[in-house]
Amino acid sequence: MNNSIKIGSTIGIIGGGQLGQMLAQSARQSGMKVIILDPQKDCPAALFADGQIVADYSDEAAIRKLVSKADVLTYEFENVDLNILEKIQNKTLLPQGTHLLKITKDRLNEKNFLKNLGLRTAEFSSINTEKELKNALDEFGYPSYLKTCEGGYDGKNQMQLKSTSDFDKATTILQKGPCILEKKVIFKMECSVMVGRNVDGEVSVFPVSENIHRNQILHESIVPARISEKLQNEAQLIARKIAEALNLCGILGIEMFIGEDDNVYVNELAPRPHNSGHYSIEACNYSQFDIHNRAICNWKMPEIKLLKPVVMVNVLGQHLEKVKALVPHNEEYHFHDYWKTEARVDRKMGHVTILTNDIEKTLNDIEKTNIWD
Ligand code: ADP
Ligand code: MG
Repeated sequence: MNNSIKIGSTIGIIGGGQLGQMLAQSARQSGMKVIILDPQKDCPAALFADGQIVADYSDEAAIRKLVSKADVLTYEFENVDLNILEKIQNKTLLPQGTHLLKITKDRLNEKNFLKNLGLRTAEFSSINTEKELKNALDEFGYPSYLKTCEGGYDGKNQMQLKSTSDFDKATTILQKGPCILEKKVIFKMECSVMVGRNVDGEVSVFPVSENIHRNQILHESIVPARISEKLQNEAQLIARKIAEALNLCGILGIEMFIGEDDNVYVNELAPRPHNSGHYSIEACNYSQFDIHNRAICNWKMPEIKLLKPVVMVNVLGQHLEKVKALVPHNEEYHFHDYWKTEARVDRKMGHVTILTNDIEKTLNDIEKTNIWD
C-alpha cells in the first residue's frame, strides 16, 4: 500500500452524469476532492464536486488542464477519447490504463476476449456485409441479435431479427458500421456482478443482482438474485476470473444471462459503475462507487457484505413527478435524484432503493403504485 493516494487528494473524472455524481458523492464523503470534465455546465456530477472544467470530452487541452489539477484520473463512461488518454497516461495518473477500454469499446473484441478466457457467451459472428449477415443467419437461425460493435447502450444500435422478413430492417444497423450477430440465448434470468480490483490486485466482488428490463432499459435490480447459491457462486467466480485476466483496476460491471440450461453466459462488460450496482449504496457495507474510488486510489479492498435484501427501481423521465410526490409519504423509499434539468421520456432521472425482508411483497408494492406501468 506504499503507492496509495492520500486523503485530501483530487480525483479528476471525465464525464459528469449520474455515475460521476455518485462517484463524487462517495469520494467527497471520504475526504477526497473531485473535479469534473463535462461540456454541460452544472452537469449532475459538478453539483457535488469541488470544481468543473466545462469542455468537450475530446478536448485535449481541457483534459491536460484536468490532469494538471488532479492526482488521479478516471472516467464514468466507456466512450472516452482513447488517443488522448494514451498520450497523457501513466500508471499513477490513470491506474485503470487503456487496455480494458480497448477491449470493451468493441463488442467483437469483448466477445473474443471472453471466449479466449474459456467463458460461455452467446454464439457470435463478425458481420460487415449483407452476405456475411445472411450466412450467419443461415447458421444461427432466428431469433438473433444484430448489434453495432461500437456505440450501443440501452438497446440502441441493435435489433432482434425474428424472421427473414426483418432482414431489410437489419441492413440499416449494418450501415452504421462493423457489426456482430449473436444467436439468442434462451435465458431464465438476466443478472450482473460488479467487481472491483485495486492497483495491488486485491479484489472485491459484489453479490449477484437480478435485472429486469423494460424496453431494453434496466427497470429493477433485485439482490440477492433469485437463483441457486451454486449459480450465484459461479457468477461471482466468473467475475473474479475476468477481473484477474484483465488486470483490472477500478470497478467493472459484468452482465450475464442465466440460461434455461442453467449455464451462465457472459453478455457484456461495462468498465465503470453500472446501473445494476446502485443498490449497493444502501444495501452493502461499501457501495460500487466507494469500491471504484478505493481501487483507483489503491486503498485496501474490503470483503463486500449484503446488509439486507434489496430492490432498486429506476426512475425515468415519465416516472419522476409521481415518484417525487410519493417519496415524502413512503419511509421505505430511499430516493436518489440525479438533478438533471430536463426530464425526457426514458431518460434516467433517479432511482429508488428499497431494503426489504420480503422481495415478493416489495415487488408487488412497487407494481401497486401504478407509477411504473
Ligand atoms: P446494451 O449495450 O444495449 O445493454 P446488450 O447486449 O446488453 O446491449 O443487449 C440489451 C438487451 O437485449 C439485453 O439485456 C438482453 O435483454 C437482450 N439481448 C441482447 N443480446 C442477447 C442475446 N444474445 N440473447 C438474448 N438476449 C439478448
Ligand atoms: Mg446491456
